[in-house]
Amino acid sequence: MKPIIVLGSGLAGYTLVRELRKLNREIPITLVSQDSGDYYSKPTLSNAFAQGKTPATLILTPADAMAKQLNITFLPHCKVNAIHRESRQLDTTAGMLEYDRLVLAMGADPIRIPLQGNAADAVLSVNDLADYAHFRDALDKAKSVAIMGGGLIGCEFANDLAVAGFKVTVIDPGPYPLAGLLPEQAGRQLLEPLNNIGVTWRFGTSVQTMDSSDKGYALTLTDNSTVQADLVLSAVGLRPRIQLARKAGLAVNRGIVVDGQMRSSDEAIYALGDCAEIDGRVQPFVLPIMQAGRALAKVLNGEEAKVVFPYMPVVVKTPAHPVAVSPVARDAAGTWQVLASGQGIKMGFFNAQNEMTGFVVTGEFASERNEMTKLLVTV
Ligand SMILES: Cc1cc2nc3c(=O)[nH]c(=O)nc-3n(C[C@H](O)[C@H](O)[C@H](O)COP(=O)(O)OP(=O)(O)OC[C@H]3O[C@@H](n4cnc5c(N)ncnc54)[C@H](O)[C@@H]3O)c2cc1C
Repeated sequence: MKPIIVLGSGLAGYTLVRELRKLNREIPITLVSQDSGDYYSKPTLSNAFAQGKTPATLILTPADAMAKQLNITFLPHCKVNAIHRESRQLDTTAGMLEYDRLVLAMGADPIRIPLQGNAADAVLSVNDLADYAHFRDALDKAKSVAIMGGGLIGCEFANDLAVAGFKVTVIDPGPYPLAGLLPEQAGRQLLEPLNNIGVTWRFGTSVQTMDSSDKGYALTLTDNSTVQADLVLSAVGLRPRIQLARKAGLAVNRGIVVDGQMRSSDEAIYALGDCAEIDGRVQPFVLPIMQAGRALAKVLNGEEAKVVFPYMPVVVKTPAHPVAVSPVARDAAGTWQVLASGQGIKMGFFNAQNEMTGFVVTGEFASERNEMTKLLVTV
C-alpha cells in the first residue's frame, strides 16, 4: 500500500501525523523533510536568547524518537524538487517516492528586502533551528543589533535581545509598533516600556543601504539618517512556500489554495500550515495550524470533517509590555473603542450592530484575554 506522504516536519507536519496516529495506527505514513526533523517549538526562537537557550536545548524530541513514537518512515535532509501528479510521485534528493495522498506542510520563506551596499548579503533572518544557530554565533561577537521590521517577530526579538543586554534599534516604515495587527493607541503602548529596556525606534523609514564599516555595519535609511549596528536581523514577514505547488500546476494564490478540508485543486493533494491558504486565508500561527491539522487528520482517515476556526487570540511575547490581540481584517467595517486604560490599554472592535468582533489587551490588561475572547460575538 502506498503511503500518505507528509512534506515538512514543522508544527503543521508533526501535528497532522500525531492527530492521524490517534485515529489510525496502521495507515502507512512517510514524512519527508529537507531539515533534520528534530521537533521544536518555532515560537520559542524569538524569546530563546535571553533565557540562554541553545539550538540543542530547544529540541523537544529528536527526529528518530519522533519517528519511532509515531510509527512512521522518516526521510530527513531530503529535499523535494518536483511533484508528478499524474503518476503520484515525488522527485526528491533521495530518489522517486510514490504516494497515495500527499500533504504539503512546507512552511514559508522569510521575505528579503533588496538592499544596496557591500554588505547587503549579511542580513540574517531566523525562521528555523539552523537559522537560530547561525544567529546565536553571530551574536557572540555583537553588542548592537538593528532589526528591520517592528511587527510581531521584530518586537519579540527586540524585547529578548534588549533584556540580554544588546543595544537594539528597530526600523519600520509604519508609524508605530505592530501596526499591521493593532490600532494605533494600542501599538503606541509598546514604545516606552521597550525603550526603557534599551530599544530605540525608527518609524516611517526603512533600510536602503548596508555597508561594512570598521564598527560593524553602517545602515543608511530611506530618510537619509544612519544606524550603526554589529548585526542586522530582518523580520519583515514571511511568504508561503508555493513554488513547488505552482510548478505542479496546483491552484495557488498567496498560499496553496485549499478548501475547508485542506484539499487542493488536486484531490490527492492537501496543504496545511504557513504554506496553505485555507478558504481564502493564510493564518501563520500555532492555534489555527493545530485546528486545521486535527480536521485534516479526520479527512485523511475517511471521516466527515471541515475545519472551523474559533476566535484564537495572538499573544505577542513582549514581557516588557505584554500584548494579546484577536485581530480584525484590515477592511472590516467597524470602529476600535477604548474600554479601559492605565499601565496598558483594553480596546474592542465593534461592528455596526455594536457587537465586539475583535479586541486588544496590553500591559496590565493582557491577562484578560480569555475573558475578552468569551465576549466576542459568535460567528
Ligand atoms: C520567530 C518566530 C516566532 C513565532 N512566534 C509565534 C507565536 O508566538 N505564536 C504563534 O501562534 N505563532 C508564532 N510563529 C508562527 C509559527 O511558529 C508558525 O506559523 C509555524 O511554526 C509554522 O509551521 P509550519 O509547519 O507550517 O512551517 P515550518 O515550521 O517552517 O515547517 C516547514 C517544513 O517544510 C520543510 N520543507 C520546505 N520545503 C521543502 C522541500 N522542498 N523539501 C523538503 N522539505 C521541505 C522544512 O524543512 C520544514 O520542515 C512564530 C514564527 C517565527 C518565525
